[in-house]
Amino acid sequence: MADSHSKKKSGSRGKSGKRRSKRRSKRKSSRKRRSSRGPVWIPRTLLGDSVKGGIITSVEEIFANNYKVREKEIFDILLPNIKETVVDISMVQKQSDSGQQSRFKAIVCVGNRNGYVGIATSKTKEVGHGIRKAIAAAKLNIIPVKRGCGSWECNCGGDHSIPYTVHGKSGSVKVTLKPAAKGTGLVASAAARIPLDLVGIKDCYVHIKGNSKNAENTAKAIVNAFENAYKMMVPHDWTI
Ligand SMILES: [Zn+2]
Repeated sequence: MADSHSKKKSGSRGKSGKRRSKRRSKRKSSRKRRSSRGPVWIPRTLLGDSVKGGIITSVEEIFANNYKVREKEIFDILLPNIKETVVDISMVQKQSDSGQQSRFKAIVCVGNRNGYVGIATSKTKEVGHGIRKAIAAAKLNIIPVKRGCGSWECNCGGDHSIPYTVHGKSGSVKVTLKPAAKGTGLVASAAARIPLDLVGIKDCYVHIKGNSKNAENTAKAIVNAFENAYKMMVPHDWTI
């Protein structure tokens, strides 16, 4: 009798143990799935719905109709190979009654190396969270960039440079972008090179005036120049 009891007990234990292990494995697998795929995106705007539903399939459509993008996942779907680069991280402080309160300021530039770029800043208590927040904000600031070959030395008609000279400004920093021939490379400072590289421009001359040590304003001035380039209509763009 004792043996049968022990057998039964052991059997019951074994079953429960199996169940537990199954449950655990289920939990683990669900966790893994969550971590690998991330939370499921539920669109909260009409534009988000139509992108997820497959009605809008290209970024050009969004910019042609002047839609306001309020969800970063829209660009995650339409521009799948977005790369991000941290331009600068600095510590900023404010004076409060209890002393100094310091936070980290992160400046991040995003782009797909094929005509789209965005830049944004964030201020948070932790660096990692700040970078993620800046990336999300930069995705919402994505703009289309005109590329071309405006160099009289090259005149190849490709899109390795910019089509004409443009100016941009942010704070005290004023930049002038000039088209360059194939093989010239980016004649620019480290901070100015980041947005140019992320947009896919390979050859360009950059002139900077003002406080060119300021990485944030230099990068922002370059993006401002891209914005200004898009405002200009040249005979090449005239279509009936
Ligand atoms: Zn060329």
